[in-house]
Amino acid sequence: MGRFDGLPIREELKSFEPYGAPQLDVPVLLNVNENPYPPSEETVADVAASVAAAARGMNRYPDREFLDLRADLAAYLARESGARLEPEQLWAANGSNEVMLHILQAFGGPGRTALSFAPTYSMYPEYARDTNTAWVTGRRAEDFTLDRSKAIAAISRHRPSVVLLASPNNPTGTALPIDVTEAIVAQAASLGSVVVVDEAYAEFRRAGTPSAVSLLPSYPNLAVSRTMSKAFAMAGGRVGYLAASKQFVDALRIVRLPYHLSAVTQATARAALRHSDELLGRVEQLRAERDETVGWLRALGLRAVDSDANFVLFGTFADRHAVWQALLDDGVLIRETGPDGWLRVSIGTSEEMAAFRACMERILKTDT
Ligand code: PMP
Repeated sequence: MGRFDGLPIREELKSFEPYGAPQLDVPVLLNVNENPYPPSEETVADVAASVAAAARGMNRYPDREFLDLRADLAAYLARESGARLEPEQLWAANGSNEVMLHILQAFGGPGRTALSFAPTYSMYPEYARDTNTAWVTGRRAEDFTLDRSKAIAAISRHRPSVVLLASPNNPTGTALPIDVTEAIVAQAASLGSVVVVDEAYAEFRRAGTPSAVSLLPSYPNLAVSRTMSKAFAMAGGRVGYLAASKQFVDALRIVRLPYHLSAVTQATARAALRHSDELLGRVEQLRAERDETVGWLRALGLRAVDSDANFVLFGTFADRHAVWQALLDDGVLIRETGPDGWLRVSIGTSEEMAAFRACMERILKTDT
């Protein structure tokens, strides 16, 4: 008996489980790259008051074009990356996952191909599957960087309509140098492809690394997606967004469902943006904690990948599941993801990282 007996589920979906990391109630949660610091009571009160104001008009549908929120996001990117963007160049949805789905709905589809470079974010093939878009991957180098000429060759060979580049990349933390990004975007433009630079973790990048938003004025085929789920400490608010040319955004407006961004979400996002200094206030500390984590993992004799994000990929283990389980048994939940033998840990508070470190030291000692 199959799970879907009697239902006309699409053949290619039958073998899948719903995507997602285990949601377990344990003391130390270092598995989904959240910001470990909750908002202050002042921010909570502003969000609550903004939601209450939205509730007073909730008999009506929300603003379908959410131009106020798009203007606020443009102002944020101006501050954060020096981008000068019109509100019409911004787009938002329920998490950058939904933004990306809009992109595949608009630019992918039957007979079309989406391309990325593995190992990378494991939701990408799901957006492709769900939109009936063919999915192909090129490879990253042994150190998880992307070789410019190999990337360009892969694009020329597969002629994808959509290229997805995560920078910093999940699960490796690797940032793409801006000249490599630009070479790829230029090549894609010459072949009529769009490129999405997924900057979900951009705020954690090292100082001096330009964001791909700096390329937007030159490339109408480029989109840069961001999220409020990570550095912005708003994973529960479900707001992701994108900056691109107006034409690009207009294509997404065709495929979005009407009123996809609820009045509650819009009010929450706008309130959070008013408190961006506070919400992003721990980013510097998380970066320092990340670099320290790479340092002590290496000092333990492990490999740890330099990261521009709020997580570290480390290994390698003959039996990574056993390590993951041993940590969980001690109340520390990390993520079993990435190439064989590697594990990924999100950067938490100093106390959480100390707990993770103590467990790792214990595990390695028992091993030898
Ligand atoms: N892109 C990358 C690279 C991610 O790691 C994630 C979250 N894990 C997302 C996009 C989606 O995040 P959200 O939908 O919460 O914005």
